[in-house]
Amino acid sequence: MDTQYSPNNIFAKILRGEMPCIKVYEDDDTIAFMDIMPQADGHTLVVPKEAAVNLFDLSERGAQAAIVATQRVARAVRAAFSPDGISIGQFNGAAAGQTVPHIHFHIVPRYNDQALRGHARDMQEPDVLKGHAERIIAALREQGA
Ligand code: AMP
Repeated sequence: MDTQYSPNNIFAKILRGEMPCIKVYEDDDTIAFMDIMPQADGHTLVVPKEAAVNLFDLSERGAQAAIVATQRVARAVRAAFSPDGISIGQFNGAAAGQTVPHIHFHIVPRYNDQALRGHARDMQEPDVLKGHAERIIAALREQGA
């Protein structure tokens, strides 16, 4: 499993402000933004700022911050979209489906009447993602996060 961190990965560029993202949340240790190829409406990514490829080389502090931020953002996604369920996912290594080599957590709303869309397959329109982000941001504000 590749644990050699490359600062050229797309999430590192987003963290440095070199690439755009549709951000919903940020604290000292994490940032959260909309997945541009969402598997369901409201699919959000929580990305630790630490330069770590996967869960195994993330520090304990980073892991703690990530799960707290994931819980916070997932609560807002739940409030904003009222899904039937929410999957939290984190992939380690290409064999496990990891496509971006910077640690991140998926928050994927699940709906009884909708099949999950493909992983990292179809780009969503930026305006649609911005609308989803606004709903999550409003819910975060509501919960005081
Ligand atoms: P993983 O396969 O767990 O590494 O997931 C990477 C996720 O990042 C996929 O769900 C992609 O759709 C998503 N993704 C890739 N590039 C971007 C980007 N520039 N902004 C937001 N999400 C992205």
